[in-house]
Amino acid sequence: MGFNTKAVHTGVAKDTQYNSVTTPLYTSSNFAFKNMSTTTGYDYTRSGNPTRRAAEENIAELEGGVDARCTATGMSAVTGVLHLLKTGDHVIAGNDIYGGTFRLMHTLFSKMGIQFSFIDMRSPQHVEDALRDNTKMVWIETPSNPLLNIVDIQAVARIARKHGALSAVDNTFMTPYFQKPLALGADLVVHSTTKYINGHSDVIGGAIVSATDALAQQIQFNVNALGISEAPFDAWLVLRGVKTLGIRMEQHTRNAMAIAQFLAQCDKVETTYYPGLKTHPQHELAKQQMSGFGGMVSFDFKPNGINLDTFFSKLRYFALAESLGGVESLIEAPYFMSHASMTEEARKEAGIKKNNVRLSIGIEDTDDLLDDLKNALS
Ligand SMILES: *Cc1c(COP(=O)(O)O)cnc(C)c1O
Repeated sequence: MGFNTKAVHTGVAKDTQYNSVTTPLYTSSNFAFKNMSTTTGYDYTRSGNPTRRAAEENIAELEGGVDARCTATGMSAVTGVLHLLKTGDHVIAGNDIYGGTFRLMHTLFSKMGIQFSFIDMRSPQHVEDALRDNTKMVWIETPSNPLLNIVDIQAVARIARKHGALSAVDNTFMTPYFQKPLALGADLVVHSTTKYINGHSDVIGGAIVSATDALAQQIQFNVNALGISEAPFDAWLVLRGVKTLGIRMEQHTRNAMAIAQFLAQCDKVETTYYPGLKTHPQHELAKQQMSGFGGMVSFDFKPNGINLDTFFSKLRYFALAESLGGVESLIEAPYFMSHASMTEEARKEAGIKKNNVRLSIGIEDTDDLLDDLKNALS
């Protein structure tokens, strides 16, 4: 089965009574036992639910994992994975990971006695150098946000494995359509399904995919014990969304490439960040581990080039909004919006400037988006 066939069919057929073509929405909180020791496979929706299971089977198949669990949010997926750790363990993560993941690690999990090193992960050697005897996990997010830096998943996962540490990859930006971390040697994949997997900006959700049965069992235990599983209706929306993931990603990428090429030659723009551009410092690595370059583009205006609010107000199709990965195009200024909770110093270290603008390119017609940007820039 090819990717789109898997996305359309895997897990979907759950109705043996009426043969409904889409998965029924089972909102039931509990399921009756046949006798004291026999169930239909489900007893209580926090632990398992047939609608959610359909989405989980689908996402596991797309990522090439043995199992997936859908969680209430992307952050709860991160939480479920970090609970594989215990007090005294050490984790290596990128210094440009998603702000919410950084906050969770830096505040709550640090308080529980887990140690974190946040490093520049563009070089696998930096990971090697940061290893400690108690390093138990390496957290990879690639490409990064908003500057689209790339981490070599295969090299870093190999370093982690050799050391006896787990590697977990946040694959939210690329999705399994363009990047398959488990095939590159990672142990776990995490998603904010809020973004591309659902793709329609109408649900908050997450997923954890495991490479082995042993990990899958621990993850299912964590998700159930923490109570972070996804509501059936939300999982039903995610399953509806994921069926079109492949064709959406194709259009996101086509649009993003055209816009990145336009920005790269625009005289008001200083730097354009997009892994698909030959000028991206890690373009070769991106080509190796990704089969497409995704829908996120960012750029720096030339200093004193333009008033950001005026520019944003002239746009017709790009909504001024955080988040990403939906069918509609969005624009924002990371320094003032999505990354405002970072300290001044952390933003400086990550290279996020006041004149940086991030685009989440939707699936609208390429020419309409280009015309919109050209008009706002004129
Ligand atoms: C949005 C996002 C998250 C958090 O997901 P929520 O669904 O908002 O909880 C985690 N990682 C990445 C890369 C994200 O973009």
